[in-house]
Amino acid sequence: MALNENRDECPFCDRIGDGDFIAESDVAVAFADKFPVSRGHALVVPRHHAASLFEISQAEIEDVWGLVSHVRSILQGDLAPDGFNIGLNDGEAAGQTVGHAHVHVIPRYKGDVPDPRGGVRWVFPDKAAYWLNK
Ligand code: AMP
Ligand code: ZN
Repeated sequence: MALNENRDECPFCDRIGDGDFIAESDVAVAFADKFPVSRGHALVVPRHHAASLFEISQAEIEDVWGLVSHVRSILQGDLAPDGFNIGLNDGEAAGQTVGHAHVHVIPRYKGDVPDPRGGVRWVFPDKAAYWLNK
């Protein structure tokens, strides 16, 4: 089954119905990731059920990114991380597991991994460390 076919069993539609958000707008909400990879890992999720962020309107996308910025500021104030990874897995081939579009806001802390260089490049571990091949 394609990622977005069954909205009746969508964990994010359920979660949006529960309320209790880090932040929200007319278009999107932000809540804590249930299985955080770092302290404060949050998801920004359009209220409208769509598998890809790029299936919603340009105005909605802009609102989502505004909420990402707002959540980043909240997490910066609350947790004082040293950096962030912000991004999305767009499609199953790219690693998306929940078929309701979402942006990950992942606070990073000095020393949380031995060598953070490369960040999102580590989706391809054997190609991430390009500086070793320069
Ligand atoms: P992705 O693999 O990019 O689709 O990310 C899905 C994210 O959703 C993962 O980081 C999960 O930890 C998170 N997740 C899965 N189920 C729930 C849930 N019920 N509430 C909050 N986060 C969830
Ligand atoms: Zn949904």
